[in-house]
Amino acid sequence: MKAIVVERLGPPDVMEIKDIPVPQPGEGEIRIEVEAVGINFADVLAVAGEYLTRTRVPYTPGMEFAGIVESLGEGVTSVKVGQRVACLGGSGALAKYAVVKATGIIPVPESFTGAQAAAFPVSYFTAYHGLKTLGRGQEGEWVLVQAAAGALGTASVQLAKAMGMKVIAMASIEEKLQLARDLGADVTLLQDDPDRVQKVRDAAGGKGVPLILEVVGGPRFQESLDMAADQGRVIVIGNASREQANMRPVELMKRNLTVTGLWLTSMMNDREATVAAAQALTPLVASGQVTPQVGPTYALAESARAFQDILDRKTIGKVVIEP
Ligand code: NDP
Repeated sequence: MKAIVVERLGPPDVMEIKDIPVPQPGEGEIRIEVEAVGINFADVLAVAGEYLTRTRVPYTPGMEFAGIVESLGEGVTSVKVGQRVACLGGSGALAKYAVVKATGIIPVPESFTGAQAAAFPVSYFTAYHGLKTLGRGQEGEWVLVQAAAGALGTASVQLAKAMGMKVIAMASIEEKLQLARDLGADVTLLQDDPDRVQKVRDAAGGKGVPLILEVVGGPRFQESLDMAADQGRVIVIGNASREQANMRPVELMKRNLTVTGLWLTSMMNDREATVAAAQALTPLVASGQVTPQVGPTYALAESARAFQDILDRKTIGKVVIEP
């Protein structure tokens, strides 16, 4: 079968399309015919060798995908052949078929297309944990969403609005801000606006923002602290700038700030939090209050270009590759 193979880590053009054997499902596993792969910034970092976990080569990228169950390994009774499912695995989805543990699949609403299903789990569970589980966001409270037109950003804007929060959305270009407004953002601001710190503080009633979903990192991390209200919560979810941030802990002390890290992979080990997130998301999806924003869609052979477009900040919504 055709698959993307990475033999050495580096920029997106290290990804090659090759013929590899179709993987066989072992005990407790299922094989899925991949319909759509949701591409996360994490995939780009993994190929570059800059992710939180070490990337072992050779490997086939693709951690989040949706597809049709094609064959069952021994002992699997929880799913049926022909069923559409979404999956979160470590890797392997940029291929015609992928094998995952049957326990690792995520049910998706029947109304979702394959692309929507592939665009859902990572972005929406992360947004929920950022806004609620760790962020403790309250109805009527302001939240700052960075990279607001991206996969996580659009999920965060939608969810925050569905929870009754007020949203300040930041992004790099006007077209991205327009999408954030279309999704309900109350205030939008270009990421490079020279007066951004003061404007964000003013927008949130002059006192700063009580909750910030921080995904840029580097020198921008200090700006997030400057934008936060006293006693504010800054949830560190990403480091899209790929630069180091400096933090002076005494500043947190002085302003009673809380900085909390969020990594979905380790949050998934918290079963109670995962079930609570799923229970909160299900009715919002069913009522159409949140809908995955599928962005540009690429063929398998265009995977390197898809990854490069994410790095170049050209994409809006969730990038999807259809093998
Ligand atoms: P996106 O679809 O949001 O794409 C990344 C966005 O980040 C770009 O559109 C761009 O938005 C912004 N960006 C890219 N490069 C830079 C840069 N050099 N400086 C500032 N901003 C940049 O991707 P994801 O939704 O997958 O991820 C968004 C962020 O959230 C990433 O940092 C990612 O690592 C993180 N994340 C973390 C998770 C976790 O478990 N901790 C889970 C999911 C995502 P713009 O052009 O508007 O600035």
